[in-house]
Amino acid sequence: MAVISVDIAGRPYEVRVGAGLLAELVPHCRSRLRKRGVPIVTDSNVHAAWGEVVEKSLRDNGHEPHWRILPPGEQTKSWDELAATVNWLLTLEVERGDHIIALGGGVVGDLTGFCASVVKRGCKFIQVPTTLLAQVDSSVGGKTAINTPAGKNLVGAFHQPSLVLADLSALETLPERELLAGYAEIVKYGLIDDADFFAWCERNGAALIAGDSALREYAVSHSVAAKARIVAQDEFETTGKRALLNLGHTFGHALEAETGFSNRLLHGEAVALGMVLAARYSARKGLMPKASAERVAQHIDEVGLPASLSGLGLDCDGTGLARHMLHDKKMDAGTLPFLLLHGIGKTYLDKEASLDDVAAFLGEEL
Ligand code: NAD
Ligand code: ZN
Repeated sequence: MAVISVDIAGRPYEVRVGAGLLAELVPHCRSRLRKRGVPIVTDSNVHAAWGEVVEKSLRDNGHEPHWRILPPGEQTKSWDELAATVNWLLTLEVERGDHIIALGGGVVGDLTGFCASVVKRGCKFIQVPTTLLAQVDSSVGGKTAINTPAGKNLVGAFHQPSLVLADLSALETLPERELLAGYAEIVKYGLIDDADFFAWCERNGAALIAGDSALREYAVSHSVAAKARIVAQDEFETTGKRALLNLGHTFGHALEAETGFSNRLLHGEAVALGMVLAARYSARKGLMPKASAERVAQHIDEVGLPASLSGLGLDCDGTGLARHMLHDKKMDAGTLPFLLLHGIGKTYLDKEASLDDVAAFLGEEL
């Protein structure tokens, strides 16, 4: 097991990464669990796969679980589920010092974390991420949110967990496509500021995806440490440092919007292609060598993630696609900030990009 110490503004917590943590949930949570019943929020897929294991760990150690089993999928991050889950926590008489367990992917983690931030003006929660994406990204850093008709993640809070338990065994039941989508966010950390880690991904990505547990443990803990390091420098995304974590996300968000945030393109798949587009656009602007941009495309393609816009068969032009970027919540009025690259491991925030220029580039890529 690897243990990563996260320290955000003097509020330290641990991220433990290893196999078999779900079966050992209670020993890992130790004194954090309340005696009169432990609230656990999950979704029905995760409950079907891992509910029994978690239930056994709790009952064997004298704790009674209280389950809230949500429907899987993005639509669960809603006002309705937020209200219903908060009301449920209140009927369980959760107090500020109590811990709620979020057992699932980013959807469960984001919703549960948001509930924890508002119940009794803030109670504690433990992230138990069960997707690769949640293990390397959403469970760490304290962003919580729901979606509204105005857009995704527009309502939420910064609320750090008190512990994160990333059980690599949970990935055994994760559909391959979800695993790959999570892998995209791992590659992202290499591209942001760690060229050596990108090269490590090139060498080891295929074996990691195929199931090598030592490689998975290294990649998850390295990614968590990278995210923690970046978030610690800019918890509330005010200096631009935390924004680096959005590499590939502006292009990716446009692709998700164009495909209606549907199963046609998972978030991680959109980010994978978004990173390729950011690299290719950077090369086109003469910011990074073309060969480096193609290295990014080649790795994304090799592992089986989407690496070309033309392959998606979208029914729109470059302007139509670029239009979605105007609705991106990360846009400042008047400027068009884009995360571009001076090279692999050299991502920076470019505030001068012109939407027309981006639209022309996308038109050529389509
Ligand atoms: P998800 O939570 O929807 O999980 C994906 C699918 O896998 C679901 O169908 C789920 O039921 C299933 N699943 C989860 N674990 C499983 C397991 N071990 N075995 C079998 N099936 C399993 O999606 P996700 O990709 O984990 O998270 C996406 C969400 O995370 C988005 O809402 C996104 O906005 C959010 N997110 C948040 C942050 C953050 O910093 N808070 C960062 C990145 C993404
Ligand atoms: Zn993402």
